[in-house]
Amino acid sequence: MNMAQDEILIRGGRIIDPASGVDMVGDVLVSGGTIWKVGKKINHSRSAKVYDAGGLVVSPGFVDMHAHLREPGREDEETIESGAKAALKGGFTSIVAMPNTDPPIDSEGMVRLVIEKGEGAGAARVFPMAAITKGLKGESISEMAHLREAGAVAFTDDGNPVSNAGTMRRALEYASMLECPVVSHCEETSLTKGGAMNEGAVSTALGLKGIPSVAEEIIVARDILLSGFTGGRLHIAHMSTKESVDLIRRAKKMGTKVTAEATPHHIALTDELLRSYDTNFKMNPPLRKEDDRMALIEGLRDGTIDCIATDHAPHTEIEKDVAFDDAPFGVTGLETALGVLITFLVEAGHLTLEQMVEKLSLSPSKILGLSSGTLRPGAQADITVFDPHLEWTVSPDDFLSKSRNSPFCGMKLAGHAVLVLVSGRALYESSKERMAPRGNQPA
Ligand SMILES: [Zn+2]
Repeated sequence: MNMAQDEILIRGGRIIDPASGVDMVGDVLVSGGTIWKVGKKINHSRSAKVYDAGGLVVSPGFVDMHAHLREPGREDEETIESGAKAALKGGFTSIVAMPNTDPPIDSEGMVRLVIEKGEGAGAARVFPMAAITKGLKGESISEMAHLREAGAVAFTDDGNPVSNAGTMRRALEYASMLECPVVSHCEETSLTKGGAMNEGAVSTALGLKGIPSVAEEIIVARDILLSGFTGGRLHIAHMSTKESVDLIRRAKKMGTKVTAEATPHHIALTDELLRSYDTNFKMNPPLRKEDDRMALIEGLRDGTIDCIATDHAPHTEIEKDVAFDDAPFGVTGLETALGVLITFLVEAGHLTLEQMVEKLSLSPSKILGLSSGTLRPGAQADITVFDPHLEWTVSPDDFLSKSRNSPFCGMKLAGHAVLVLVSGRALYESSKERMAPRGNQPA
């Protein structure tokens, strides 16, 4: 194989690779689909394609371990292809497709279908998560060993909790043999039934039925106890409350095998926004109060919350354009995540860029046992180059996702992907002028 054939040099960017502790200005050379060399100044062959990354950040490709791609069943909301393309534009080189489709991902054939469709999309890599229970019904456990063998990276009934503690126990026991996590959607449904938003002062003022924090925390506590009891690996999806953060912090101190994720919208927004009755702010778990939001940020800072995942949940305009009570839960997130995180975490002084990169690449890769998340020589060349200062206004008309239900519509954000490589191939490039060195620009 002629190595020079597909050489790419990314020159003069700020290279951030938390896995190897690198944070420096330099070059990254990619060849034959892998990271070839990282250094201050790298000589390259004449045929190499050179990208000038002056003023830009070069990081491992982002990994989103929580995306709803709606295929099969609701291809009008999203397809695996449109979701994988939206992901790429957002800087994600890998995404995990959640299994609550119609039919659900609960058989080997369905797992393979998601993998094949993902490969066919020619965009971000797509990894399937498979159902914990057959048909996501919460009753009999799926053929977890076979699903794992077919390529499932983890198990979840997300969209629904596993209400039966005995079933969750068994899932955690199997998962410990299969060396992968069980991902828990923490919701005690006897407390959430009919709820539309966070229970509190705002829900009372608006006359909307509330979803109390304790409905999440009860299952977080239960599943932590079950994880400790079985030794199975537990991952808490989209945690949203202060007490959930405290529970996980204590569990980690005790040595329980628990990891957790938070979403950009829970990190950035609160239930005060619901006063507009805009259904783009309706999601599950709901937006909480300011002290919950600050607790999530503290959890990210001290390592209690391992990673950030979008919970990308596309819905059509027709579905969302109804009375608040009637609208489905969920918002899109793949294309706004990076801008939201830079604006609300990094520019706000809560997290360093390096910490943010770790939460978006290395941590989710580790949780899922993927080989991505690093720029070490020899690693697959999944790379995201982004401009942390580029200001843009969220306009859903520009989305590659099929759906427009973003809570960030019209918001001005800082930070956008500029160049995204998957396996050493540049699959997303923003317009040329954005690749120009930022240093020469007027402030
Ligand atoms: Zn969920």
